[in-house]
Amino acid sequence: MNNDKEDKFHKKNTLEKRLLYDKLTFFYISLPLLLLGNFMGALLLSAIQLEVIQQESIIIWLTLSFIIFLYGFYLYSLFRNETENNKLKHVNLWLDKYYTNVLVYGIIWGSSAFLMFPEANLLNQMVVIFFLFAIGFTSMGILASKPDLLITYIMVTYIPMILRLFFMESAQYSIIAYIVLFLVLVMFFIANYYGKIINNSLENRQNFITIKDSHLKLKERFFSLFERAPVGIFYYNDQLEIEDVNMHFMLMHGIEDKEIMLGMNLQGFANKQVIQAHKDVFYSKTGNYRGPFGSFKNKDLYVKLSTVPMLNTKGEVAGGITIVNDITKEITIQEEMIRTAYYDLLTDIPNKTLLMDKLSEFLKASYHTQQYASLLFLDVDNFKKVNESYGHNVGDHLLKQIAKKLEDILGEHEIFARVGGDKFALLIPSLSEKKDEAKQQVLRYIQTMYTQFEKPLLISGDTYHVSFSIGVMLFKQERSAFDLLKSAETAMYEAKQTTKGSIQFYESRMSEATKEILTIENDIHKAIQNYEFFIDYQPQIDIYENKIIGAESLVRWKHPTKGLISPSKFIPIAEESGIIIKLEEYIFHAIFKNIKSLFESNEGKNLQHISINVSTIHFLQPNFVDKIMQLVQQYKIQPEWIEFEITESGLMRNINDAIKKIKDLKNFGFTFSIDDFGTGYSSLSYLKELPVDTIKIDQSFILHMHKNKGDAMIVESVVSIGKKFNLKIVAEGVETIEALDYLKKIQCTTYQGYFGYKPMSLDDFRSIL
Ligand code: C2E
Ligand code: CA
Ligand code: CA
Repeated sequence: MNNDKEDKFHKKNTLEKRLLYDKLTFFYISLPLLLLGNFMGALLLSAIQLEVIQQESIIIWLTLSFIIFLYGFYLYSLFRNETENNKLKHVNLWLDKYYTNVLVYGIIWGSSAFLMFPEANLLNQMVVIFFLFAIGFTSMGILASKPDLLITYIMVTYIPMILRLFFMESAQYSIIAYIVLFLVLVMFFIANYYGKIINNSLENRQNFITIKDSHLKLKERFFSLFERAPVGIFYYNDQLEIEDVNMHFMLMHGIEDKEIMLGMNLQGFANKQVIQAHKDVFYSKTGNYRGPFGSFKNKDLYVKLSTVPMLNTKGEVAGGITIVNDITKEITIQEEMIRTAYYDLLTDIPNKTLLMDKLSEFLKASYHTQQYASLLFLDVDNFKKVNESYGHNVGDHLLKQIAKKLEDILGEHEIFARVGGDKFALLIPSLSEKKDEAKQQVLRYIQTMYTQFEKPLLISGDTYHVSFSIGVMLFKQERSAFDLLKSAETAMYEAKQTTKGSIQFYESRMSEATKEILTIENDIHKAIQNYEFFIDYQPQIDIYENKIIGAESLVRWKHPTKGLISPSKFIPIAEESGIIIKLEEYIFHAIFKNIKSLFESNEGKNLQHISINVSTIHFLQPNFVDKIMQLVQQYKIQPEWIEFEITESGLMRNINDAIKKIKDLKNFGFTFSIDDFGTGYSSLSYLKELPVDTIKIDQSFILHMHKNKGDAMIVESVVSIGKKFNLKIVAEGVETIEALDYLKKIQCTTYQGYFGYKPMSLDDFRSIL
């Protein structure tokens, strides 16, 4: 039987049946030899006894032998031609047939005690006895396996001889009879013993086959489990060498050739935790590990692995089996989640949540130290304007660049985060124990920060100077992270209030101011709806003729609880929050309406213009021109009645767009003036390019002219340059006669200031015309 057949065979049949079948095959295979042996024996005996026995007896005996010999062969050929299935089905029948055959042979041999046993010739008599035993012993293989057959065989084969010997009535034959009996007994015991051995070994063979069979099955199952398991599995020996790996494990690593991995030593792994997990099995423990496993080709692999001891036959740990789960996806999702929860998506630096966590941790850890630490709150100046004029993509790009530059100067222990739009926070953890020294350290830190931004950044092909307003919270011990950030933020707002690009250390009085800023921001929305804004007009006067030629419109806010709020306070906040556009739209409606009534009245018909302040953020809006032209149509006013005041600093950022808009609006008849000239990034060279009509010298110069020679000179040179460019000059903030006189002396044409008039209501303005 080949293996396949054997397998099926074993699956179907019981051990007992297979044992019988085994015996059957064993018997029938040896049958021809047995038959030949018997028949040859019979022939030989006949030849030997030919002299001493009657021929008839020999012929009868030999014929019987021959018949059973033929029958035996017939039986053998039947057996050979029978199918395995039938043999198995009728295993007992076949065995019986076989036993009968053996038994018949036994009878024939038994009959030799009469037919072939001579009366007197002792030698020939002994020959018969010898043959009986010779044949008996040769058949022992068969007889031994079946005790009842053995007994029957002995009965039929030897009892006739023994009886015959006893009946010979001679002491000598009696002795021989006893010897024969003894030999039969010996033979019986040998056969019995032999039989047990045969049966045992046959049984063992079957047991072995059964065991082998189940072992094979087990092995097969193990291998299919090992090879096809949807997890990575490998096993290794006590030297930590990899002995085998499964398909999945190779797939995980993107390795196709098993050989690359086999024999590799785990000791060579860079990750000590991985090595330890594999060593754990030698302490009869299971090892566990979770983390990166980039030891082969796939460097980004994250796994969860467990090792179990692998025992040898003696029960000793001979190595281990490792089961490896690929959790890369899970981890990346988790990491991703952590990233989005704790990191700012745009700049990839920590966000406010992470900052607060780390800050709290820091506060706990540093509770007992005497050192100062500081939290810096940084706000990018004019960032809103960048967004408005260049679009959000450019703004985002700028923020990324800024974050990158700030990150570059960070030391190991600083914590840096983006806490909102253009707002960053930075914790400098260990400063001096002395407040003054700590303060100096912070300032030096900020100084290095500034050097990072000395060179302008590039946005949309334009250069852009970044400046920050920085609030610094210097602290030691027992503060909450929330309070710290709030204080630093407050200080930052304070810094913005003074001048953009400045630094403020927090002082407790500041909190109120910040609160106010925040409430103002909220209240502006309501104020627009509740008509809390109104417009005042401040006359502009021709210096030589001393006559009112126009006025600047200035917005006022009458807050229901806080009273009048200055535009210097709420306009920057409105700009910072972006609500300025909505606010100015509202203001424009009011002013346009006023202008209409003013210019069409008797009093106002000789005015040159009314100035309107425009926030750069609003001005750089793409639809600004259309918006104005709509108002012109709606209120039916002439563009010539209006002069727009714009500040140069904002315009420089998008100079080309600004120039184009100014030109467009000038084509309709509007005029333009540059407000606050002399502050900010003033550059006279731009004057050539900006097609404006008027320069308004900032009031700070005018106010200090009398005591500051520098200011006076600036005023003088602005006036002369203005003349060169054929521009009208308006001096703002004229409070004294001295100032006015000086302006007259240097041939400035127009002024505006408390010396003339303070801003007033439309009706008041109308009344002084
Ligand atoms: P500004 O455009 O430079 O306006 C002139 C400011 O100087 C006004 O303050 C005015 O009242 C004040 N002023 C006039 N003459 C004198 C003087 O002789 N001495 C002193 N010390 N101050 C004088 P105001 O009305 O508080 O406005 C402050 C700022 O608010 C304005 O400065 C302007 O930048 C902004 N603003 C006012 N109205 C509007 C508006 O409708 N739109 C926009 N975008 N900004 C406005
Ligand atoms: Ca103005
Ligand atoms: Ca001004």
